[in-house]
Amino acid sequence: MNIVVLSRNPKLYSTKRLVQAGEERGHNMLIVDHSKCDLVIEKKNPQIIYQGKKLENIDAVIPRIGASITFYGTAVVRQFEMMKVFTAIESIALGRSRDKLRSLQILSRAGLGLPKTVFTNYSKNTDHIIDSIGGAPMVIKLLEGTQGIGVVLAENKNAASSVIEAFHGLKARVIAQEFIEEAKGADIRAFVVDGVVVGAMRRSGKPGDFRSNLHRGGTAEVIELSDDEENAALKAARVMGLGVAGVDMLQSKNGPLIMEVNSSPGLEGIESATGIDIAKSIIRYVERNV
Ligand code: ADP
Repeated sequence: MNIVVLSRNPKLYSTKRLVQAGEERGHNMLIVDHSKCDLVIEKKNPQIIYQGKKLENIDAVIPRIGASITFYGTAVVRQFEMMKVFTAIESIALGRSRDKLRSLQILSRAGLGLPKTVFTNYSKNTDHIIDSIGGAPMVIKLLEGTQGIGVVLAENKNAASSVIEAFHGLKARVIAQEFIEEAKGADIRAFVVDGVVVGAMRRSGKPGDFRSNLHRGGTAEVIELSDDEENAALKAARVMGLGVAGVDMLQSKNGPLIMEVNSSPGLEGIESATGIDIAKSIIRYVERNV
């Protein structure tokens, strides 16, 4: 098969591993930078022009779209769909997953456990926001943040109020969230491919940090998920419509709480922690669908 990996950087671990896993299974792998694709739209003849040539005879595409280029990246994936090319992540699911608020609404409707969250249209009534969460300590997150940047733990009501006001003053949208103390600065990443958890790890922040992001110096260990955790991860990926998903959960006294469902989850952390060939699972998922 001819499989395109949509990625802006051929040197990234995840991109290299997908290419390698595809080649090992006899496929012709092509890396295409979605930011450099031109989309030709006319009656019944959608085309993509890349490096001056029409992309033709592509069987499948594996999108690895960074958060900063969601809009254009999603349009490129949609163009492939119009060309009847199978995509490991559908454009609609990609768009959904990039909107934190919309994602939480979808997960909540599906009855999944979530940390209690408040989102407002720059409300000045910070007391009300804080009281709705159940008071401080609480977590305040920039709606557009990634890799733990813009995620703040406010220890008391005054701090929470100041942080919300400061972000709103900068016209930055935030969500305020109940702080799950029992998670003890750790979270779980379940990697789901085609309705199966293919690997799971527990990430812990560096000492003193409640954020467990590996990009911030956290460490990861392989774990066996409980039935509740596995079911939550699978349902979250399903309701988001994602064939490939990294589901992030906090372990709370009330069971797993979903924080986020990632549509371009990195392979490096999970493959190193678990020793599992996740790239191969993704290639096999593509094979089953073409
Ligand atoms: P990002 O998408 O930028 O990584 P997250 O929402 O995943 O931001 O938050 C980063 C980290 O902070 C999480 O991995 C988790 O360890 C911690 N964290 C986030 N929200 C909460 C919360 N409500 N309670 C406790 N810890 C949290």
